[in-house]
Amino acid sequence: MEDLNELLIQHQISSSSDIWFWKDNVRLSFTVKEVRESLAHQIDLNTQVGDFVWNKWASGKSNMFAWRAVENKIPSAVGLRERGMSLPDYTCRLCGIAEESADHVLMQCSFAKQVWNAVLRWVKCPEVNLDGSLKHMLHEIIDIRRGRYIRKAIHAVTLQTIWNIWKIRNEKIFKGKPGTVQKAVEDIKDDSYQGLKQRSNCRSISWQQWCDFNWNM
Ligand SMILES: [Zn+2]
Repeated sequence: MEDLNELLIQHQISSSSDIWFWKDNVRLSFTVKEVRESLAHQIDLNTQVGDFVWNKWASGKSNMFAWRAVENKIPSAVGLRERGMSLPDYTCRLCGIAEESADHVLMQCSFAKQVWNAVLRWVKCPEVNLDGSLKHMLHEIIDIRRGRYIRKAIHAVTLQTIWNIWKIRNEKIFKGKPGTVQKAVEDIKDDSYQGLKQRSNCRSISWQQWCDFNWNM
């Protein structure tokens, strides 16, 4: 009660109406510009947050997960070990051969590679390198020599593929359900089609047009 009294004594009540303003700001206003100025005193707002390219045609989950995977922020076995967690086994559960890093389980793994090869054949980009890192593969996709919108569609399919392979990995580990390459590819086509219908300008595209799409434009 004494503390409360102390606080109340220090507080000055005025007759003017209440206003919102940013703490530590000179001007008493509540605008985005003001908070930006305030933050600029504390951090460098011009630093790059990375070169990950967001894709509005892909789902928020696909974008966010792919970004986290590229930044090595997903809970793969190796990722958890790097954060100090001890696991009984770090082997990839999809192939049972190599350690489960993000680059491995989402791209280099024999299971993931079969999915990627089928997806890349469908989008007519069989030359993309799957032996490097996810980051390099995404750069290759972004720079692929196609029209702007085709490139964007291929990029959206790529982000969907990364997310779907992770979901298959989780189904295997946590539910014991083995995924098949054929089902994985069907789901990637379907999920990326739904994304295109919902988020792009190509909303009238039919399922058959999507499956037989001319990716060489
Ligand atoms: Zn593997």
